[in-house]
Amino acid sequence: MIIAVDGPAAAGKGTIARALARHFGLHFLDTGSLYRMVGLAVLRAGGDPHDSAAAISAARGLRPDSFHDAELRSEAVGAAASIVAVIPEVRAALLDFQRQFAQKPPGAVLDGRDIGTVVCPAADVKLFITASAEVRALRRQKELGASDFKTVLAEIKARDLRDSQRATAPLVAAEDAVVIDTSDMEVGAAVAEAIRIADGG
Ligand code: C5P
Repeated sequence: MIIAVDGPAAAGKGTIARALARHFGLHFLDTGSLYRMVGLAVLRAGGDPHDSAAAISAARGLRPDSFHDAELRSEAVGAAASIVAVIPEVRAALLDFQRQFAQKPPGAVLDGRDIGTVVCPAADVKLFITASAEVRALRRQKELGASDFKTVLAEIKARDLRDSQRATAPLVAAEDAVVIDTSDMEVGAAVAEAIRIADGG
């Protein structure tokens, strides 16, 4: 069983995808972490995420064992991730790992931007988790303990634009995805709804 969970930043897809994996006893992969690791590797080497050569080499040399680096979650690294994610060769370098992960028995839940459209187009269940930019910015502000709402909102909007307008694997709901808008939903209700859909009910 493969469950694809896509959507914009801070819509709740990570929480929902983890809960689905726990409920159905499946593996879980946060694919955003792969792009974040590439962005972080470029920044740490003193490079610029817009530098394609540096980003491609970081993606090809990635060892997915630094998932737990605390710096991965910062908004600066999220922004760097969305910059390197525009580069087709970076996406290609990360594709095999994601597809192989999805094939691990008994199956997996992957969350990202292009899981239902590109990584696992034949996924058994496809969810697209979204929420208004304002609600997502509020959640991100709380999560980061950031003080300035306007800055967080501007960062979210900039990332949405970059993710949805890129030529390769843009952020878009697969035609056969079920959309869940979590703007007015408690997290527990959103998780219950996702489980109900994945159960086919
Ligand atoms: O989900 P998260 O915020 O960790 O993702 C960071 C960035 O990685 C996203 O803004 C997006 O540009 C990129 N990404 C992607 N494709 C995925 C997952 C993440 O392009 N499947």
